[in-house]
Amino acid sequence: VPPLALRDVTRRYDSGGGGEVTALANVDFAVASGEVVAVVGPSGSGKSTMLNILGLLDEPTSGSVELRGEPTVGLSEAERTDARRESLGFVFQDFHLLPTLSAVENVRLPTAFLPEDATERARSLLELVGLGDRLDHTPDELSGGQKQRVAIARALINEPDVLLADEPTGNLDRDTGTAILEEVRRIADEAGVGVVAVTHDDLVTEYADRTVELVDGVLRDV
Ligand code: ADP
Ligand code: ADP
Repeated sequence: VPPLALRDVTRRYDSGGGGEVTALANVDFAVASGEVVAVVGPSGSGKSTMLNILGLLDEPTSGSVELRGEPTVGLSEAERTDARRESLGFVFQDFHLLPTLSAVENVRLPTAFLPEDATERARSLLELVGLGDRLDHTPDELSGGQKQRVAIARALINEPDVLLADEPTGNLDRDTGTAILEEVRRIADEAGVGVVAVTHDDLVTEYADRTVELVDGVLRDV
């Protein structure tokens, strides 16, 4: 059973004046454990919509989203939030770190663990991503690549099945982007985390097991 899947998902938006836009059309998609999938496509093709639906932040107009084979349609907002926290990690282009908190504090932020356990786990995750010597630094004391490593550690704190990444290398130079992708690849391989990365970056597609493309809301293999 794949950790996360879309079954025949269509998402329409009202476009004003009684019109509709079909942002996703009958999309079937699944990410496997340990698999890295790149999602590419031109602007307006439905990438953000797909990521938001995979992230349980938005719901399909029709079709279903399945977490470990269980449909999520019909879950309450609170249940969706719990499911998101338990099963999914998010990584963004602009890192989304809180500027006044240290690396450890940023990483432990999304946990429900007891404080001491959360701190211990945050430390070991920062060590895992090569930041064992930056635990108490705040974001403005870290490089772009280091900030993204903190964000990846934060995304892993609840042991997600799947990481959802929005342009994870978008603000990084090529060498730093390569280092981050090697980290993501290692996490997928060693921890069995599935990764879905929306991207314009050819580097991401090189590190992916598979690339899919959206064109006008229709998903196809590349
Ligand atoms: P991408 O991320 O590939 O740029 P989006 O998923 O943002 O694509 O958008 C897909 C289509 O849906 C576009 O035509 C966009 O204008 C439309 N769209 C996205 N969000 C909304 C919204 N909240 N209301 C109306 N139309 C939207
Ligand atoms: P954009 O590229 O439009 O600036 P972001 O990269 O900020 O969007 O976020 C991508 C999507 O992830 C957004 O649609 C947003 O709703 C969602 N998102 C933002 N912050 C969080 C968060 N802390 N947890 C889960 N989802 C989030």
